Amino acid sequence: MAHVISDDCVMCGTCEGECPVGAISAGDSKYVINADECIDCGTCAAACPSEAIHPEE
Ligand code: SF4
Repeated sequence: MAHVISDDCVMCGTCEGECPVGAISAGDSKYVINADECIDCGTCAAACPSEAIHPEE
């Protein structure tokens, strides 16, 4: 399990600085979470102003 960033991402970069394990980086059209590094803490989801981050279904 990992959190994932949807197309609602507006590339603000807020989440990248919030992730305690550095799992988030900028992609081409949205930020992306490295599922191998994500510890599912939810910190990024709470910080996202676009509510674009959710637990993986
Ligand atoms: Fe990082 Fe936590 Fe978000 Fe996973 S859920 S990407 S560990 S801030």
